[in-house]
Amino acid sequence: MSLSNRRIGIRYGLAFVSVALVALLRWALQPALADAALILFVLPIVLSGWYGGIGPALLATVLATAAGAFLFMPAGRSSSQLGYNDFARVLVFFIVGVALSIFNDVLHGTHRQLALRNAEAQRQKKAAQRSKERLARVIDSAMDAIISVDGQRRIVVFNRAAEKLFGFSSTDALGKPIDQFIIDDFGLAGSAEGDVTASGTLRISRPTRAKTRRGDVIPVEAAVSQSADGENPLWTLIVRDVSERERVQRELEEANHAKDQFLAVLSHELRTPLTPVLASVAAMQEDPTIPAEARASLRIVRRNVELEARLIDDLLDLTRVSRGKLQMVSEVVAVHDLIRSAVETACQEEAQAKRLSIVLELDAEHDEVWGDPVRLQQVIWNLLRNAVKFTSPGGRIEVRSRNVDSLLVVDFIDNGMGIDQQALPRIFNAFEQTEEAVKKRFGGLGLGLAISKGLVEAQGGRLTAHSDGLGKGSRFTLEMILAEAGVGAKRQKASARRESAPAPLNILLVEDHEDTARIMSKLLRSFEHRVTWVANFATAVEAVEADHFDLLISDLGLPDGNGRDLMRQAKKKNSILGIALSGYGMESDVRASMEAGFAEHLTKPVNIVQLQEAIRRVTGN
Ligand code: ADP
Repeated sequence: MSLSNRRIGIRYGLAFVSVALVALLRWALQPALADAALILFVLPIVLSGWYGGIGPALLATVLATAAGAFLFMPAGRSSSQLGYNDFARVLVFFIVGVALSIFNDVLHGTHRQLALRNAEAQRQKKAAQRSKERLARVIDSAMDAIISVDGQRRIVVFNRAAEKLFGFSSTDALGKPIDQFIIDDFGLAGSAEGDVTASGTLRISRPTRAKTRRGDVIPVEAAVSQSADGENPLWTLIVRDVSERERVQRELEEANHAKDQFLAVLSHELRTPLTPVLASVAAMQEDPTIPAEARASLRIVRRNVELEARLIDDLLDLTRVSRGKLQMVSEVVAVHDLIRSAVETACQEEAQAKRLSIVLELDAEHDEVWGDPVRLQQVIWNLLRNAVKFTSPGGRIEVRSRNVDSLLVVDFIDNGMGIDQQALPRIFNAFEQTEEAVKKRFGGLGLGLAISKGLVEAQGGRLTAHSDGLGKGSRFTLEMILAEAGVGAKRQKASARRESAPAPLNILLVEDHEDTARIMSKLLRSFEHRVTWVANFATAVEAVEADHFDLLISDLGLPDGNGRDLMRQAKKKNSILGIALSGYGMESDVRASMEAGFAEHLTKPVNIVQLQEAIRRVTGN
């Protein structure tokens, strides 16, 4: 017998048994109960209904009615004697029994439903409790500090990471205002209501500062979100300690600064000895008594020293370009002039040696652009030098200019070795050379194009490269923004001046490096200037007191003082002009010189052309 069958058996069995028991009881109490023949039979009906449901209750009703009617009607009356009254009583009993059974069943059903509902509610409550505990565990195991605050800015959640970060236990922190922990205002609760989105969450993430129990203030980053806890707003902050990240960043910056500093010092040390070499060679080249063979050697010496100086410059420039720290002037520059002079000065010798023909087709109607003339010249030189370098003997180089809208577009075209398609996108990267073979054959550091691109972009222009492949030549295109037409007049006046000889000046030269000083004096005198040379700060101050000078050309690092202090003192005395000479060419160095009153800052090694141009610029000659 299956379990449910047994249960059915018991339920119905109870109906039989209970009716039988009541019948027995009724029988035993017969004399006392007399007329109340049926009343006791209500009991088995209720009992069966309560225990077994409507089926057993109805069975009990039938059995009880039968038993009551036939066994226990008032004594002395046999069944055949049942009168109308008795029949009515039996019928009423039966109806009451059925009603009781139904009522019992309904009551039972309702009760069961209620119990079920209750159990479901209990289950849900437990599940919610478990989920709450799970959430609390997750919050507690989070790496970031999680803090929730209510509408009154009081802390209602404070996880373990928050305890660690702030040094307070959650029991200490709960109920405290958030402002004790987070210093900067977050626009929490209320003030930022306008930002709350439709979904009721607002997210802001910002750097701020946290205060720990020990009183330390640490940088943190906090993400804030808003939700609702029933009717009340709830703000949750996820706070992350960023002091470690900031420390690393600071160290990186310091390391970067140290590297720049190192490069500056290095280039200073590398340049200084080059100045007298260059100056001596220049002077010797001017000397008519020097024989022709020696002259050829001098040319080689000079070219290589200049190359050396340029490599040093490149290294320094690269750090400036990559850090966006280029100092540029922005003025109207006539690019055609720059191209012509670059062709003459930058690559004439090598081009001749390689029998290259250089063709200029400068057809652009407007060639005046906004830019820094020195930096633009550097770019043009670099492009021309590359063209000469990477074109085989007998080859051809063309420089063409045209105007496109408000741009001046200059193409540098050669029919040289060309650039592999795959290498093309990389050639503007620092230290990038197309092939190992290129490095070996042509030398160089692979910095020129990286610097040029940086310089052009810093002037608002663009530099691009094109090649159909190896052996198919290259085309570099320089695009610069045209200056307004009217500004050209100023430049023409300036370049007209350039042609005339500079007026003689009374110059005070302060330089402790004897070779450099001697050569510079000699060259300056050859331009008719009167030069007084002193080697230190103290003598220079005396000289300034004693005489009137038009121009002070001073080294910055003097054995007993600083050229900038000298400039400041000299300026106090009279309206002297100044050119600073220094091995340090960092932006900060240049700026410091300008602040001291120098009009120009030249980085060593200084060649005479540069110096002459600087003198022209300073004196307006
Ligand atoms: P460097 O000339 O010192 O190697 P650049 O940055 O000026 O450095 O040039 C990077 C590389 O681009 C060169 O090594 C060369 O491979 C390639 N390149 C530059 N100009 C040309 C050109 N006109 N023709 C062919 N290749 C060129």
